[in-house]
Order: sequence, then C-alpha cells, then structure tokens
Amino acid sequence: MDEADFYPEGALVTVLTAEPLDRTLDYKAPEGGVERGAFVEVPLGPRKVLGCVWGAGLGGFDLSKARRISAVLDVAPMRDEMRSFLEKVAAYTLTPMPAMLRLATRAPGLMNPPGMRKIYRRGTGLPPRETEARKRVLDTLDDYGGLSFTLKELADAADVTPSVIKGLLPSGAIVEEDTPRDLPYRRLDADAPGKELTEAQGEAAQALRAAVAAQAYSTTLLKGVTGSGKTEVYLEAVAECLKHGRQALVLLPEIALTSEFLTRFEDRFGARPAEWHSGVTMTERRRVWKMVGQGGAQVVIGARSALYLPFQNLGLIVVDEEHDGSYKQEDGVMYNARDMAVLRASLCSAAVVLASATPSLETWANVEAGKYKRLDLESRYGPAVMPDMQALDMRVDKLPATQFISERLANAVRMRMQKGEQSLLFLNRRGYAPVTICRACGFQIACDHCDARMVEHRFLKRLMCHQCGETKPMPEACPSCGVEGRLAPVGPGVERLAEEVAERFPEAKCAVLSSDLFASARALKEQIRLIAEGDTDIIIGTQLVAKGHNFPNLTLVGVIDADLGLQGSDLRAAERTFQLMRQVAGRAGRSEKKGIALLQTYQPEHPVIRAILAGDEEGFWRAEAAERKMAGVPPYGRMAGIILSGPDLAVVSDVANHLARSAMPLQRVGAQLFGPAPAPIARVRGRHRIRLLVKAEKGAPLQVALSDWVRQVKLPNNVRLQIDIDPQSFW
Ligand SMILES: [Zn+2]
Ligand SMILES: [Zn+2]
Repeated sequence: MDEADFYPEGALVTVLTAEPLDRTLDYKAPEGGVERGAFVEVPLGPRKVLGCVWGAGLGGFDLSKARRISAVLDVAPMRDEMRSFLEKVAAYTLTPMPAMLRLATRAPGLMNPPGMRKIYRRGTGLPPRETEARKRVLDTLDDYGGLSFTLKELADAADVTPSVIKGLLPSGAIVEEDTPRDLPYRRLDADAPGKELTEAQGEAAQALRAAVAAQAYSTTLLKGVTGSGKTEVYLEAVAECLKHGRQALVLLPEIALTSEFLTRFEDRFGARPAEWHSGVTMTERRRVWKMVGQGGAQVVIGARSALYLPFQNLGLIVVDEEHDGSYKQEDGVMYNARDMAVLRASLCSAAVVLASATPSLETWANVEAGKYKRLDLESRYGPAVMPDMQALDMRVDKLPATQFISERLANAVRMRMQKGEQSLLFLNRRGYAPVTICRACGFQIACDHCDARMVEHRFLKRLMCHQCGETKPMPEACPSCGVEGRLAPVGPGVERLAEEVAERFPEAKCAVLSSDLFASARALKEQIRLIAEGDTDIIIGTQLVAKGHNFPNLTLVGVIDADLGLQGSDLRAAERTFQLMRQVAGRAGRSEKKGIALLQTYQPEHPVIRAILAGDEEGFWRAEAAERKMAGVPPYGRMAGIILSGPDLAVVSDVANHLARSAMPLQRVGAQLFGPAPAPIARVRGRHRIRLLVKAEKGAPLQVALSDWVRQVKLPNNVRLQIDIDPQSFW
C-alpha cells in the first residue's frame, strides 16, 4: 500500500456512503488510522451508516465540527480496480455513486459484529450402538479427513436427519463447536479429472484455457447448441483459472437452472461454489460477500448482480446464455451485466467467455469486428441437431375464434402419441386469455392503475395485470354496461390452450409449464423431471420451456403463434423471435430420434419467419446487421431512452416538453431526439409515462451530452426521470 493511502488517527478523510447525497462526507480517522478503500461505519445525524473511505478529506468547513468514523469494518477494503469499475459503470449508466456503492454492498449485516454458529467434526468417542445411519455420518466425516461441517451440510452429505447427528454428541463420537459464522468455502479441486471431451470440445477447452492462462483481458464467444457441451468446456476454463490461484465468476440468467448446474459443478470440482442470487439467505449473502473479498470463495455462481461482488483476484467471467434479456437490469441502476462483465474483466486482466446457442447481435457484431474471438461447438449428435422446420399457413385453416390448434398440427400430435413420443405446444403467453371483452357493449377489462388490459388466469380464478401484478376477481357483470353473462375471453393463453388440448386429446397426459402455475422452484423441477422421464404425452409451455431442459422423448414442437414476437416497435423484435423460435424448435429431437418443428403463422413470407425456416443463422445475422446499420441503431449506433413518470400527466408533459425544447447539448454532439411521446404502456401503477429517445453515432460522447441536457431541468417532486443507456425494452 502507498503511504499516501493511509490516514493516521485524526486525519480528515472523505467517505462515500450509500445515502442519496450528491457528495462524499468528511470524517476524522479513528484510533489506529484507516486506509483508503476501507469499509467503515460513520455517524450521519442520529444514525450510523455504511461507507467507504474515498480519499483525503475535502475540508472547507470548521474542522472542529468534523465527526469521527465510528468503526472500521472487519472486511477487505475496496480495491482500486473495484473502485474504478464502479466509477466507470456510474459514468456509463449515468448513475450517482451512492447508488453504485449500494449495489456493491448488497449484503445485509456487514456492520454487525461477526456472528457464531455451530459446527460438527469427528470426536474420539465411539457410538453407543452402530446403526446404518450413524455409520454413514462417521464415514462421511472420515472421508473428508478432519473437516468440520454445519449440521445441514453433514446431514445432506450423509443423507441422514439432523437428529441422527445430534444423537451422536453424548458419546463424543461427534463434537459440536462454536465458530465464526462466515467461514471460507470448501476448497475446490482444480486437478480433479473433468468429463471426457470430444475432439472438438477438447480444442475449444484448450483455447479457453490458453485465454485464462494469459492472465490478460480477452473475450471469447463460445457458440454451441444445448447438448454440445458448452458447460463442460467452460468448466475447463474455470479449472485453469483455479490453477492460477485466481477467482472465477459464472453468471446464469435463471435461478431454476442453477441447482442442476450446481450438481454438475460439484461433480467436476468436488465441492460446491458460492451462490449469489435472490434465493440465497441473507446470512449466506453476507458470507459470500466477505469471503469473495478475502479469497475464501474461489468460484461464485450467480445472477447479474454478482458482478459487483468485491473479488480479490478475478481471473475469469463466464456469461452463460449471454443473449438473455434478464441480464439487463430494467430499474434502479439500468445496466447490462454482459457488457459490464466485459468492462470489469478489462480492468482486472481477466478472460470473458460469452456462451450461447443464439448469440445477441451485439456479440455477433463484436466478433465480426475482431474484438471478440469465436469458438463453435457442434452438437455431439452431429451438425443436424436442428429439427426439420415447416410453416403452417394459418390463413388456409379458417379456424373458429375459440380454437388455436390447426388440424395439421393436431394430426402431427396424434402421430407422436401413437408412437409413444412427446409433443410440445409452445405459446409465449401466461394465463387463460389476454383479453376479456363484453359481448354486449364491447368493453375490455383494463387495469385500474395501468394502461394495460387484464389477463384472465382461470387457474387462480382472477384477472391479473402483467404490468403491475394487480389482481381482481372475474366480475359476473360487465363493469361498463352492467349486463351479466356476456364477458368472453379473446385470444389464447397457455391455460386456454390446455383446455383445447384436453378436449381434443382426451386420452393424452398433459403438463402445463408456466412460471405462475408452480408454488415453488422445487415443484417446477419435479414436473420437469417427470416430463423428462416420459410421463407426459403433450407439454404445453411458455418461454420457460425454451431454456435448457432436455426431454429425450420429445420429437414434435408446435409453435401456436410464431408471429407473436414480431408485433410491436421493438428494434430487437426480429432478433428475439429468431432466437426464441430456434431455442424452442431445438427442444425437438435431442436424442437419436429426429424431430420436427411446425410453426403456425399468418405471415409465412415474413423475412424473419423465412430465416427461421431456412435455418440460415449467419444469413439472418448479416441481414439484420445490415438493417440496423442503415437505421443507425445499436450495435451500429447509440441509443438512450428517457422515461419521465409521475401521477399528474400535465406536470410530466411540461417537463418532457421543456426537455425537448432545450436539446442544444444533444445537438452539439450530433444526436437526434425523438419524442416526447406517451410510452407504449402510458400508465403503470398510476403513474403516467412519457418517453424520449436519443440516437447518436457510435463514437459520439453521448453520456456527457445527456447529463448536460437533463441537468437543465429541475424536476418537480413527484416526477421521476430515468435514463436507460442501450435500452433493451421500449415499454
Ligand atoms: Zn358491457
Ligand atoms: Zn396494472
């Protein structure tokens, strides 16, 4: 440490807090002094708040009034690399630093004294009576040669109930001890042999190992369909990282997938990694945060915010399913975890692996531009992994408005049932029907707080707003004209589709996979397991089924409405539909049996539908890239969305118009301003929303211009302004 970075007792230092202030605050260093980056507890008014020592005090006030730092926390200080990462993300996303610090310290209880917990290890006593269960406990402890366990860890590892372990205490066969709660994670075995790799996988793994061993920044796209062994390949990169004594971070988009993933990880490295996602308990979060900072956690598997953990020596970041929309945080600090992972890696000389079967256009363009390397994995079943794809032109079917499965699709399902194979009917819409209309007066039931129609969920027996989550019971009479018994559902959701399936295939065993139909992730997993074992004839699913699950007996995918994603003004509509259709179609014929995907569409000649059918991925990317280049939109131009919202429409409009009239800072950098216009969903939770869109050339200093621009208006109390750099959604 530089001497200039240490502040002796009494010296004035400035502290960044997570409080919504526009500046840092000065305090006196406590007894024993404090170093730059140290996490501290400081008095603020009557409260004590968390802060980080940011540098020498700024002064400029009566120093005798300066208060003293009340405690230096027993955690690793913030490293310069982390500080610079937070500052760069703040500058890129136009986020105030206190909000960045909050994001980087999202572990409750950091200010509490370290707690204690009970651990269990082998004692010298003999059990009074050998039972099979007791023997398993003692064998497990012997296997791990003197290691201690928590009660739960030991019970899980030995497959016994906790009472078996407690029953061994009086004899002294097991000893119980108190230790600090936040213990290091079990060491991972980097030298354990990995799964046997095919030649192609081996080559890809070798390339990734070399990238990690270089201990320099690099980004590699690892492209391959599910089943091509992407995970095994990037776990080799993790092993290489561990060998160099560096830490690795694996980002995953969906919690439902992690437990399957954790088992694979444990098989590979002999122990579990640290986990960081919304399902992790508060105390466990604190342990992860502390241990990552002290090097007591070698690998973290987590959701996007794991990127802000205080890694001590980060050598590798894997972003699995890098195209996934959930990597973009849509409120608070609006950042894209994939892009910020690349930024973080460049600051700490780490390698990045972006894994995907259907990469985002951004990543594809970065490969084309030579910024990222690319590795392609073929499926282990050979290149013909995508099933045959055909469009079913729905214009010729003239289905009644209450029916959604064409006769041709129904016949294909029947054929599968005769052969004892499974079919998947895909519809990316939760609930029973997207619209409820009054057949007497034409009224459509809408949310009271949002500019959105309410979706009927028959399973829950309620109407639900998919914007704000508000629900209400289905009324008997029309809320507008009062006529009873004329409310009717319009359009399909998965629940309605399930009803049609039950009517048309009464002998079939069906399962509906939709996130809102399961009380817990465990119940969902159980259902997925049953399907994989072949317990189902027809699977009806939303987007949930597009991801990763392997159903070996599934040979037919029917897409109920292939046009659904193509509606709307979203610039990524084509890309998303292309990815989703390919992912869903890829569920069919994953084993030796060849699969087929049938896409019901009203526009079979649409270029995106044609590209999906042709399966010409590179062709699709090239055409899509050319179109975006022409339009000057990302990744070939820059965009920012500004969303103004407030309870009073007139006030919000005033602010929007004022902003539009004072766009000089934008014009100076050649940026164009579109709007103001009501947002596509013009009211959410009772707040009116107005959008402005800024477009600029790729090299333009957009952030500086944006902050100069919005600084000109003083926001009324109730109005909120959000800036979304590189917006992913346009609602
Ligand atoms: Zn009515
Ligand atoms: Zn609503």
